[in-house]
Amino acid sequence: MASLTLRFAARTDTGLRRSSNQDSGYASARLIAIADGMGGAAAGDLASATTMNIVRTLDRESTDDDPRSALLQAVRDANRRLGEIASADPSVEGMGTTLEAMLWTGERFITAHIGDSRSYRLRDGELTQLSHDHTFVQSLVDEGKITAAEARVHPHRSLLLRVLLGRADNDPDIGELEGQAGDRYLLCSDGLTDMTDDATIAEALGLDTLEQAADRLVELALAGGGLDNVTVVIGELVETADEPAEPQLVGAAADGPRRRPAAAETTATIPPPPDVEELRYSYVPPPRMGWLRYGLVVGLALLVLVAAAVVLYRASQSQYFVGVSNDHVAIYRGVDADLPLIPLNSVAQETDIPLSALTSVNRDLVIDGIEARDRADADATVARLRATRAKPQPKPKPSPTPSASATTSTPTPINPSTP
Ligand code: MG
Repeated sequence: MASLTLRFAARTDTGLRRSSNQDSGYASARLIAIADGMGGAAAGDLASATTMNIVRTLDRESTDDDPRSALLQAVRDANRRLGEIASADPSVEGMGTTLEAMLWTGERFITAHIGDSRSYRLRDGELTQLSHDHTFVQSLVDEGKITAAEARVHPHRSLLLRVLLGRADNDPDIGELEGQAGDRYLLCSDGLTDMTDDATIAEALGLDTLEQAADRLVELALAGGGLDNVTVVIGELVETADEPAEPQLVGAAADGPRRRPAAAETTATIPPPPDVEELRYSYVPPPRMGWLRYGLVVGLALLVLVAAAVVLYRASQSQYFVGVSNDHVAIYRGVDADLPLIPLNSVAQETDIPLSALTSVNRDLVIDGIEARDRADADATVARLRATRAKPQPKPKPSPTPSASATTSTPTPINPSTP
């Protein structure tokens, strides 16, 4: 079987609203790529051109050993270069670029993706989106909060979550993809996908020649409003290449970065208008829990705690136990337990029975607390304690009903559970 190779076509257009083209595109028999630059004093063209010029060096190298690592390394090299440029020139700090690249190994594609530029495959007339946007609205779709249709018209649809900014953690998604003869692959910037829909893209991508398809796609973007730079790169897997065509480089990477004002010129008295593309990156995702929601949750938790304390307190106040107060036997209302800040018991009655008058066994029981079912039960327990005192205290009058057990020589522990 003859090995497959890519036929290709690349087109770009500044669009109807932008003053410069910050997209870059590249196409060859083994590599198709697109970068949509943005941000930082309108240095998006510098970001996309720098990235594209580094990634396309893959085309001159043998990547047979490990094409996956080779592509990842090329993207990392480009990203590091963006960081170096920004460090050397603060005026371009914040510039960034998306990147969509497909490297054909002869057997399969290695793909790199970061940002919201897209890759599509047209196979047997069916269009499939291969890339997954690194955007805020896509994250909402993934979480099931909005539909794909709502995402298309969402006011924050252009806000990006991942992009090459020259920072260490800006790694692309790297993937692999099988390909077959006749497949057409489209890489495009959001200047196309924001201006048209998948059905229209599928129809245009299926036109007879790649050149017709590329031209038609750019026309569609302009007809849809042309609000952004639009770049399309198409690759088709074919069994025989007619003849090796020259690679195509389009957009900022082909034009070269625009002249930038010198530092002295940038200190104008009138501040420049905000860069629309820069705004794409100024978005910070809202915290998962805003202050208002945080306050509500804390308030609700406190309410539950207070309610639980009230229930506990009320339940405790219907119970009694016999314990010690001022070294005397006492009847307590509540439960024999302590909670910080919440009193669970109070003295209902302090008796005239000194703790020292009890047998050692009963004294220990009282110190530990003797539970009672109700007030009458507590009174009965006190009566039994009174009757089983070890040494009757001298009293002005003898007890009116001396108990027989009071005179027994063996101290008898009372049984709190038996009245
Ligand atoms: Mg764009």
